[in-house]
Amino acid sequence: MKIEEAQKKVDDWIKLNGVRYFNELTNTALLMEEIGELSRHIARKYGEQNYKKECDSTKLIKEEMGDVFFVLLCLCNQMGINLKNSLIESIDKKTKRDINRHKKNKKLI
Ligand SMILES: [Mg+2]
Repeated sequence: MKIEEAQKKVDDWIKLNGVRYFNELTNTALLMEEIGELSRHIARKYGEQNYKKECDSTKLIKEEMGDVFFVLLCLCNQMGINLKNSLIESIDKKTKRDINRHKKNKKLI
């Protein structure tokens, strides 16, 4: 699925299953909530915390990444942002800014 298709799929889902988009501030709070859930699982899988009981942490991380992406796409749709173009611009900005920065970082070698 292309990014534009993902944005359309989320928009279709909202129109079919939601009354309307939550407003931008609510969706931003929900995005932070989903990022928190993702962080929690990453902390338990890769960090020093552990789960209280055994679970499939990879599956849980995948689910939360999907939740994060869904809410991000909601925000893009309601703000009229084409996420593909934003990503292309972000990669271009990072390339110009960090063209040699990481290659010269001795901590990465
Ligand atoms: Mg979630």
